[in-house]
Order: sequence, then structure tokens, then C-alpha cells
Amino acid sequence: MAAPRTIAIDGPAGAGKSTIGALVAERLGYLFLDTGAMYRAVALAARQRDVDPDDAEALGALAREVRIALGPPTVRDGRAYTVLLDGVDVTWQIRSADIDRIVSQVARVPAVRDAMVAQQQALAARGRVVMVGRDIGTVVLPDAQRKVFLTASAAERAKRRGDELAARGQVRPRQELLHEILRRDQLDSERAVSPLRPAEDAVVVQTDGLSVGQALDRVLHVIARPRA
Ligand code: C5P
Repeated sequence: MAAPRTIAIDGPAGAGKSTIGALVAERLGYLFLDTGAMYRAVALAARQRDVDPDDAEALGALAREVRIALGPPTVRDGRAYTVLLDGVDVTWQIRSADIDRIVSQVARVPAVRDAMVAQQQALAARGRVVMVGRDIGTVVLPDAQRKVFLTASAAERAKRRGDELAARGQVRPRQELLHEILRRDQLDSERAVSPLRPAEDAVVVQTDGLSVGQALDRVLHVIARPRA
């Protein structure tokens, strides 16, 4: 069997897509692209320029104008990749609680999605990519050779997000994280354009109670086996 050249990993907030996606890419020697970081960068640009997260027209214009670049880590501070917004390193800024709160509002704007999807498809055209997000298997790369939908219960995802933040010295109440995850799930699943859902040909991987290593093994197994 020829190695799959594009791998789509979708799933809700905090399911471990970025961690697992980066490890899969490393293992296979593929490029890793976390599309959530792109929507986060647009949300940050909107904050910096005082663009209202409800102003669809202004957000669309902004998404077409900003230059977002994702690449290998430029600093060894625990980051999986570096994100540049108009040439400025915003890798950690896009992970703030403030951006968590507004990103789904920004990402539901069709013109914002059009601008991001065009860039994502151009990157995937080079081949050998692991792309993670919400709509990769359904919209961005409907012909991806392998599609995984990574998920876990909201409680487990809130716990993981809490642990991740704690590792960076930030403490946020578990209830607050759970509430935010449920709110983002709702916004991402119920939006009119490209809602979060597994592609018909995606393999769902439930990661409740699994360690990162175990979840990685399951995903690698799905990728390695011939498609039904
Ligand atoms: O994956 P992450 O939590 O960083 O994504 C942040 C937000 O970006 C999501 O909650 C969602 O609103 C949006 N997003 C999206 N489509 C993608 C990736 C992320 O709408 N492919």
C-alpha cells in the first residue's frame, strides 16, 4: 500500500489533536499544520485592531489581509511550532483565555473560513501533511487518504486543558474550562458553514482514559491499516 500523503485529524476542543497530530507528523516525517492556530491568529489580529468579533465584513477583510505563517519551533520553550502574524511571533499570545473566548465567533464567519481554507489547501497541495482542525476531512481535504476524528468526553478534555495550562504555570478553575469547552463545542458544531462533525469516511478514536502514547498508537494503527 502506498503511504497516505494527506492525513486529516478533526475533533472538538481539547481532544488532543495538536499533540497527537504533531507526533504522527514527526513519526511519518510529514509537515504538521494545526489549522486552529490560523483562526486564533485572525482572532488575535481582530483584538489588536479593535475589530468587533461580530463584524463579519471587517473580519473577512482582515483574514484576507494578514499574513499568517506556521513553521517549526524557533524557540525551545515547549512550543510544538511557531506562529507568525505579520512577521511577529504570536505563538503563546494566541493561546490566551481572551482568544479562547472569541475564536469560535471569528471562525464562524464564511469569508474568514474561505481565506483560511484557501491557504490550507495550497499547503496540502505540496503533499505529505498531517492537518488538524474541525473541517479538514469534510471541507478542506475531502480526498485525504486517511481521516481520523479524535474525541473525548468534555470532562476529560477540560481536565487535559487544565493540566496543559498548569504545566505552563497558569491556573484556571476546572469548571470555567469545562464551560468554555462546551460553549466552543456548541458554536463549532452548530454554525452554518463547515460545522464540526466527523466525515462519513472518518474513523472515530475515543481517547477517554488513554495516555498520549496509547492514543498515538491507535491513530497510527488507523493510518497504517488499509481503508475498508
Ligand atoms: O483547535 P483549536 O482549539 O486551537 O481551534 C480554535 C478554534 O478555531 C475552534 O474552536 C474553532 O472555532 C476554530 N477552528 C475551525 N476550523 C478549524 C480549526 C479551528 O473553525 N479547521
